Amino acid sequence: MSDANFIESIINEDIKNNKNEGRVHTRFPPEPNGYLHIGHAKSICLNFELAEKYNGLCNLRFDDTNPDAEDEEYERAIIEDVKWLGFDWDDRLFYSSDYFDRLYDLAVVLIKKGKAYVCGLTPEETKSYRGSLTEPGTDSPFRSTSVEDNLALFEQMKSGDFEEGKYVLRAKIDMASSNMNMRDPIIYRIKKAHHPRAKDKWCIYPMYDFTHGQSDSFEAITHSVCTLEFEDHRPLYDWLVQELELEHRPQQIEFARLNLEYTVMSKRKLIQLVTEKHVHGWDDPRLSTLKGMRRRGFSPKAIRNFSRSLGVTKKNSMISLGTLEAHVREDLDETAGRIMTVLDPIKVTITNFEEDSVIVTPKIHPKDEERGRREFSFTKNILIDREDFMEDPPAKFFRLGPDRKVRLKYGYVIHCDEVIKDASGKVVELKCTYDKDTFGGKRPEGQKKVKGIVHWVPAESAEKVEVRMYNPLFTEPNPLAMEKDFLEYINPQSMTVIKEAFIEPSLSAAKVGQSFQFERLGYFTIDSDSTEGNWVFNQTVTLKDAWAKLK
Ligand code: ATP
Ligand code: MG
Repeated sequence: MSDANFIESIINEDIKNNKNEGRVHTRFPPEPNGYLHIGHAKSICLNFELAEKYNGLCNLRFDDTNPDAEDEEYERAIIEDVKWLGFDWDDRLFYSSDYFDRLYDLAVVLIKKGKAYVCGLTPEETKSYRGSLTEPGTDSPFRSTSVEDNLALFEQMKSGDFEEGKYVLRAKIDMASSNMNMRDPIIYRIKKAHHPRAKDKWCIYPMYDFTHGQSDSFEAITHSVCTLEFEDHRPLYDWLVQELELEHRPQQIEFARLNLEYTVMSKRKLIQLVTEKHVHGWDDPRLSTLKGMRRRGFSPKAIRNFSRSLGVTKKNSMISLGTLEAHVREDLDETAGRIMTVLDPIKVTITNFEEDSVIVTPKIHPKDEERGRREFSFTKNILIDREDFMEDPPAKFFRLGPDRKVRLKYGYVIHCDEVIKDASGKVVELKCTYDKDTFGGKRPEGQKKVKGIVHWVPAESAEKVEVRMYNPLFTEPNPLAMEKDFLEYINPQSMTVIKEAFIEPSLSAAKVGQSFQFERLGYFTIDSDSTEGNWVFNQTVTLKDAWAKLK
């Protein structure tokens, strides 16, 4: 395995040394306090794919120790999203809250060992006793309480005898440690809150640090992969696993989180965008949430490929949107059926077209005959995109202009004879003539090749659809690093709605979530706001890399 990333190198070494009997067991541990975003997808892919690669297992564990922010709506959405990405945890769905009894017992073990004490300093006092990065802390006067008294006090905490904030349970480690997390960290606090799963059983709740490593150990996790901000917590993770003499001793490994340009990923910021209605809900196609990306038309495969392509590092960086979009484009090029759509129509009348109609039957996918063909009519009246016509075109404009020729894709070469405008000077119709002998790409002997090819739809039978066009949600690559509040950098052009676009009449069996390539325009996906006959499309990604141009 020469191309192993650094986590795989650790695992390879562990397997060589028969650590954990060669097992690999990972977990994805979301806190159910928001919807999953593309950063979580990175962690999901990493954990589940490591397990797959080493024939191991990966658990899904809800890290639900904070009853204030957590909600079952989020839980359901998270389960749906991980499944949608294509991962399976079999029967290994766990909840940290299911370990509350065991965690309580472990806290008692720690007290009995003289390694934990109940502390009654006020929050302000706790802070000042803690010292700083340059100053050691000072021992709490409660540090010398006897084991018996600590056991009694902790029991009273559990029984609800004290108000919130009156006491906490702290690990007794080292107030002079250079690592602030080791300065007698709080491991239990009083919180008189209803828990969605544990209901009203508890009025004390374990802190994250007292929950995570133990939960990993209970589940016999071997490699506990997390993001870099937990690096300074690792000594505490190891200390607890050691002092509690747990059977399984998982290894915490940190990697750099995924950051993506022109978006935000923190759950708190996402909640703000949704609740303050800067976007239209959790699944707004402009968001970095998996629900949003799914609605936009990004497939699980594209997200997994993207995640894998980034590798795993210990260095924080910003990934360009272009990188993500390239994977989406690559996937859609293969999967999306082709269709012609006119976003901003100009009517074209083919004055010498005498027939009723001529049937055209282009392939659904140019590289895959097996997917069959579409069928619709070429008629006297068609629509082309306004962008494909210019009254006074520059030399390099290979589309239509007065007295110019263009080829209509799958149809004929037409010549523009006359431009008709309304009172305001806006072009409303082009009168053209067609060359009967040019159907479907044919070029009669001796005739010059027509350079421009444009798309079109038959005017009468085209279906009217709504198309939502997207730009990045923010105008700045890193809106959270700017001077002003991130909301100030919301892109006013992040969404534009085209109410009347016209699509080739071959959509009949389409369904929500299906993606198409609008020929020459990009990839688009049917939105959940659609109803039969009233299709709404989301622009998923442009046909070419729009970012490359900007650089
Ligand atoms: P946020 O900071 O976005 O609110 P979080 O870290 O609080 O997210 P958790 O539910 O605790 O969210 O995350 C579950 C797992 O996903 C954790 O292991 C966390 O490290 C990982 N994770 C979260 N954000 C990212 C990211 N941007 N890149 C990679 N992994 C991430
Ligand atoms: Mg977290």
